[in-house]
Amino acid sequence: MPFKSLGLHPLIIQAIQDTGYTEPTPIQAAAIPEILKGHDLIGIAQTGTGKTAAFTLPLLHRLHTQPPKPGNSTRTLILAPTRELVVQIEENVCAYAKHMPVRIAKVFGGVSERPQMQALRSGAEMVIATPGRLLDLMGQRCANFANLEHLVLDEADRMLDMGFLPAIRRVLNSLPKKRQTLLFSATLSKEIEALTHEFQHQPKTVQIGRRSNPAETVTQLVYEVPRHLKASLLAYLLKDPGMNMVLVFTRTKHGADRVARRLESIGIKTATLHANRSQNQRLRALADFRSGAVRVLVATDIAARGIDVDGISHVVNLDFPPQPEDYVHRIGRTGRAHAIGDAISFVCQDDYSNLRSLERFIGRGIVRKKADGFDYAAPEPPMPIDTRGPRDSREARPRRPQGAGGRAGGRRFGNSRGGR
Ligand code: AMP
Repeated sequence: MPFKSLGLHPLIIQAIQDTGYTEPTPIQAAAIPEILKGHDLIGIAQTGTGKTAAFTLPLLHRLHTQPPKPGNSTRTLILAPTRELVVQIEENVCAYAKHMPVRIAKVFGGVSERPQMQALRSGAEMVIATPGRLLDLMGQRCANFANLEHLVLDEADRMLDMGFLPAIRRVLNSLPKKRQTLLFSATLSKEIEALTHEFQHQPKTVQIGRRSNPAETVTQLVYEVPRHLKASLLAYLLKDPGMNMVLVFTRTKHGADRVARRLESIGIKTATLHANRSQNQRLRALADFRSGAVRVLVATDIAARGIDVDGISHVVNLDFPPQPEDYVHRIGRTGRAHAIGDAISFVCQDDYSNLRSLERFIGRGIVRKKADGFDYAAPEPPMPIDTRGPRDSREARPRRPQGAGGRAGGRRFGNSRGGR
């Protein structure tokens, strides 16, 4: 089915063609007509299915074709769990709206409030925000949502996991009741259903794929390995040049730093993405990964949330995720849209019960593999010294939180949760 048959404005079709998409993904084909009709919608779809375009394309159409109410107020609000996701949604919107400029404000924590306040005050038609910072700025009367027409809750399940429910409630209760509300989530839990009952009006539901099934294009493998040899096994597998754009997940930010140091020490360009990194450092790590300047990006779950990078060749779960949902989210980073990717998980003795729960959750067994020629009996390797250049060594140091609330030398920094 061509994009043209969905009823989108010709200027949007032109931008889609410029982007190189040839046909809508299933979530787009199902959701776009419903959103164009003005219905509320629940979209159950993982990252990687094209869900961002599924809501941004029809909302841009509605912004362009419906005259604004008088006054300089925001017409569309998109709430998302992380700043990375806010940045990516905005990048998508800018690409799709290149022939019909829209004034957009991005709002997220960890950077100065002032430019965001100015963007809100100068009358952004579309605001893309994390709930916490938005609430702060609304408290300072910067936002004007009196004529809001569309609201999107993106990755609603993640926002609830991250404890944003009270902030979301407060934001939503201050918006006009008559509006179109779209909610996207990877899973449809009881909590999500409660949210939709509270804030949506007769929503249509669009569900892509089986709820708990990882992207079908992803080949999944498990390597059993003693804990102390995980980084060595990763380095060994990376001898395969086919692993050219590799996203590695670790449980903790310190674990992420350790692996990165190890890989750098053997000449593999590596960046890290976790809660101790500033916004600029995160954006640079992502830019370097996207451009190929670094081959490996090591991330924790929360920091990697919503990252949108095309062409990831492999996802490696260096630490096996305790929750099946996290596994599904992680491996959704590869095999994105129509590409084929591989998901590799390292498991130690302690991970077997989680592995079995995961296999039950996704409804199939995952193939066990042994790395031919790898020395599984090797002793613990020595801790690598920090061989990264002065710039990276400086960045790897934890930042002191701004303002009160952090403890010097303590485990929590800024807004990070649980050391991730
Ligand atoms: P998302 O699920 O929104 O994170 O999108 C996943 C990836 O698919 C992004 O890199 C999009 O640029 C890409 N994408 C979205 N729609 C299409 C499409 N119709 N055809 C090809 N790629 C797409």
